[in-house]
Amino acid sequence: MNCPHCQRLLYSRSQRKCGYCGRELPAEILFSEAEVEKIRAEQQAINHRRALAKAKEEEEKEEAAKAGGDMPAAFIT
Ligand SMILES: [Zn+2]
Repeated sequence: MNCPHCQRLLYSRSQRKCGYCGRELPAEILFSEAEVEKIRAEQQAINHRRALAKAKEEEEKEEAAKAGGDMPAAFIT
């Protein structure tokens, strides 16, 4: 693991700042690779759920438009 600013080897990940250049280290460097992977997977799952919800919403809008807008979208399932 190296400092992204000065590229020097970091001796401790528990530090929030680089011991050489004193600049703040990004969060992903402070976590272990496994933790970063976990966070990434969670973020992807959230993004996926959001995309699905958005697609569903668009679908419902389309269905409502097809129905001529007579019925609220909630009744069309
Ligand atoms: Zn540095």
